[in-house]
Amino acid sequence: TEERALNFIEEIVEKDLETGKHNGRVHTRFPPEPNGYLHIGHAKSICLNFGLAQRYNGKTNLRFDDTNPVTEDTEYVESIKEDVRWLGFEWANELYASDYFDLLYAFALNLIKQGLAYVDDSSPEEIAAQKGTPTEPGTPNQYRSRSIEENVQLFEDMKAGKYPDGAKVLRAKVDLASPNMHLRDPLMYRIRHAHHHRTGDKWCIYPMYDFAHGQSDAIEEITHSICTLEFIPHRALYDWFIEKLEVFPSHQYEFARLNLTYTVMSKRKLLQLVNEGHVEGWDDPRMPTISGLRRRGYTPASIREFCERIGVAKRENLIDVGLLEFCIREDLNKTAWRRMAVLDPIKLVITNYPEGQTETLHGENNPEVEGGEGGRDIPFSNEIYIEREDFMEVPPKKFFRLGVGLMVRLKHAYIVKCESFVKDADGNVTEVHCTYIPESKSGNDTSGINVKGTIHWVSVPGAKTAEVRLYDRLFKSENPAAEEGDFKDDLNPNSLQIINAYVEPDLAAAIPGKGYQFIRKGYFTLDKLSTDEKLVFNRTVTLKDGWVK
Ligand code: ATP
Ligand code: MG
Ligand code: MG
Repeated sequence: TEERALNFIEEIVEKDLETGKHNGRVHTRFPPEPNGYLHIGHAKSICLNFGLAQRYNGKTNLRFDDTNPVTEDTEYVESIKEDVRWLGFEWANELYASDYFDLLYAFALNLIKQGLAYVDDSSPEEIAAQKGTPTEPGTPNQYRSRSIEENVQLFEDMKAGKYPDGAKVLRAKVDLASPNMHLRDPLMYRIRHAHHHRTGDKWCIYPMYDFAHGQSDAIEEITHSICTLEFIPHRALYDWFIEKLEVFPSHQYEFARLNLTYTVMSKRKLLQLVNEGHVEGWDDPRMPTISGLRRRGYTPASIREFCERIGVAKRENLIDVGLLEFCIREDLNKTAWRRMAVLDPIKLVITNYPEGQTETLHGENNPEVEGGEGGRDIPFSNEIYIEREDFMEVPPKKFFRLGVGLMVRLKHAYIVKCESFVKDADGNVTEVHCTYIPESKSGNDTSGINVKGTIHWVSVPGAKTAEVRLYDRLFKSENPAAEEGDFKDDLNPNSLQIINAYVEPDLAAAIPGKGYQFIRKGYFTLDKLSTDEKLVFNRTVTLKDGWVK
């Protein structure tokens, strides 16, 4: 991937390196708010921020943007660290915006003392009304002209807990007539008597995003502060605080957030799906979260490749989830171990194979790798399971599987010829009867018979049962977030199908986190709920794009 053209952020960085800005230093940060689990959109931001540092010999901080005590939790902090590491990145420093509360408070006092911030007693509604509209300037209220001494005292009293929630706010005194609404005396601090997951009850005033974020960047001497497009109008304020406080001149750059078809990406909506039980949890394999994708069987390499392929856009767009699926297929085709599993079984009896006899066949783990990465033993006997769809009573032309008179190869085993079948009283086929060609054993075939089809199978003696979870899109519509009304009305009621399958015995030793290709059926991985008593597999993705709109 060294060959690809530079993205626009890399171009900016290279220009900065050329001109010697920041003495050739590149320092980025990934700043999640610990109020939910990371999703594939965050992966985009992670790959961008950490990728820049890797490429230009720089550093990336992991900074928790934990300035909102009400929605944040240490459970989220831990999951975020796990997910970033799993994606393959290591941060230079683990930092918390809450560690800067003392410094931020000092910065706020500094602005007050410069006459650039004031305590306002207005209600949120009054403040909104006084802000004006994009075409009409705002109007100053009586609090805007408070003296510096009074503002210092009131702000100290706010900190000391003298006022209830919402009684007062600290505002920056910027410009009530600015065409940029974000500059019309934005809030810097609000009162919140709430317990914080790190600072406990030390604070009852908390800085707003716009004040905390840029100052945190400056404290850490971040050179390139990358965020998503909706922050473009915030940039003027970001710069204003830095200028007035004369702190390190971090600069904000914006790129388009990742949107993916058939899912939602807002943490607020994902939390609703979890809390209302539409999914099993944040790591439900249907969720677009990193933990969900991991449980589903996605690999870090496939997610990084996806982020690389979508590039860094300057305009909002909607990426086809098919591209993500393409990336995992490509990766698993190279790395997954091949196994046999029958998802919709029907019994096949080999009438000329001695009853009670078994033999052990061999199959390589991975035909994509020279040497096959080892292999496994596969039991064979006179009774096996095959897929119901691999037999037809009245096969059409060019059906290269089973029907009376047709021959097929059993993968890693023999050629069989279908002789007859058995039906029950309801007319359902219950057994397929075949003869096998003893000289046709795979790897040692002297039969001279050529058959077109090969099917997978599992020997009845030795077969393990497994619960297999087949997933479909979580939502029925491409962009459930776009429509009016409740996005949950678009949930796909058939997004999870649980079936019982027979799998070859080696899968009892399946390795957690490893990808397996169930031959002809897709890529699967062991689920976290799997036990020795009950195997559970998730289908990561089908072998081919079978999605019909
Ligand atoms: P949400 O709207 O889901 O709550 P957020 O932007 O508030 O998302 P943060 O925890 O603040 O979530 O995000 C951390 C970083 O990840 C931010 O820099 C943010 O810009 C980036 N990010 C979040 N969502 C996406 C996305 N869909 N695509 C790219 N980057 C994203
Ligand atoms: Mg955010
Ligand atoms: Mg958010």
